[in-house]
Amino acid sequence: MAHILVTNDDGLEAGGLLALKNALSAVGRVTVMAPDHNWSASGHVKTLHKPLRVNEVRLADGTPAFATSGAPSDCVALACLGFIQEPIDLVVSGINQGYNLGHDVTYSGTVTAAMEGVISGIPSIAVSLGWRPEMDYECAARFAARLAPKVLEVGLPPYTLLNVNVPNLPQDQIKGVRITRQGLRKYRDELVKRLDPRGRPYYWIAGEPSSEMEEEDTDVWAVENGYISITPLQLDLTAHAMIEQLRNWGLEV
Ligand code: MN
Repeated sequence: MAHILVTNDDGLEAGGLLALKNALSAVGRVTVMAPDHNWSASGHVKTLHKPLRVNEVRLADGTPAFATSGAPSDCVALACLGFIQEPIDLVVSGINQGYNLGHDVTYSGTVTAAMEGVISGIPSIAVSLGWRPEMDYECAARFAARLAPKVLEVGLPPYTLLNVNVPNLPQDQIKGVRITRQGLRKYRDELVKRLDPRGRPYYWIAGEPSSEMEEEDTDVWAVENGYISITPLQLDLTAHAMIEQLRNWGLEV
C-alpha cells in the first residue's frame, strides 16, 4: 500500500488539510505532518538557526498527526530525512486556502513543500483552492484522490512537481481539467506607511492580484474560466534561452 505524506502551509488546524487527508486515505496510508501555525507566503524555507520541535497531536476528527514548529518545507525534510521511518511514496501539500498561480509559486508554502518533496526524490503535488468566504474543499479533495494514484502509477520526471489549482465552484460547474503553463499573476502591491504609538514608522505590503489578459494555456486563465489547472513545475529556473547570449558577452576575470 502506498504511503502518502500530507502537509500544508495553512497550519495543522486548517480544514483543507483534513479534507485532503480524508480523501487520500482511500488511496494509501496517510501520514500527516504539518506546521503548528500558518506559514502562508513564507516561501521555500530551511530552518538552520534554531531547533525544530515535533509534537504528536490529533486532527479535528481524532486522526493522529505531527505538528512541527518548522515551515512546510521543513516538515517534508524532517519526514524524508528519517523522522518518519516508513518510506514515503508521494507528498501532497494542501489543500491551500487560495490559489497558487503564476508568480505565487515561489512565495507559496504549499508549493515549496512540494518542491522540498521532489528535492528528496519523491513525487509531489501541491493542491490549492480558490478563495471564497465559504471554503468547500470536497471537490478539490476528490480530484486530489483521483490524481494521486496516477502519479503513484507513472511517477514524475526528476525535480518536477504538479501544481494543481481548483476553482471554488460546485463540482457540476467545473468545466474540466486543463494542463497549463505558469501564467503571470502580478499584484498591485502598495507600500502603506503608518506610525506606531511611539511615532516610529512601520510598513505593510499589500495588494490585490491584477487581472491582466491571460493566454488560454495558462494556470490563471484556466481557473478564471472554470477549469481545474495542472501545471508541471520544474526546480531548474535556468533561463536556457539566455545562456548562449550570456556566453557571447565575453566576460573575463
Ligand atoms: Mn496558505
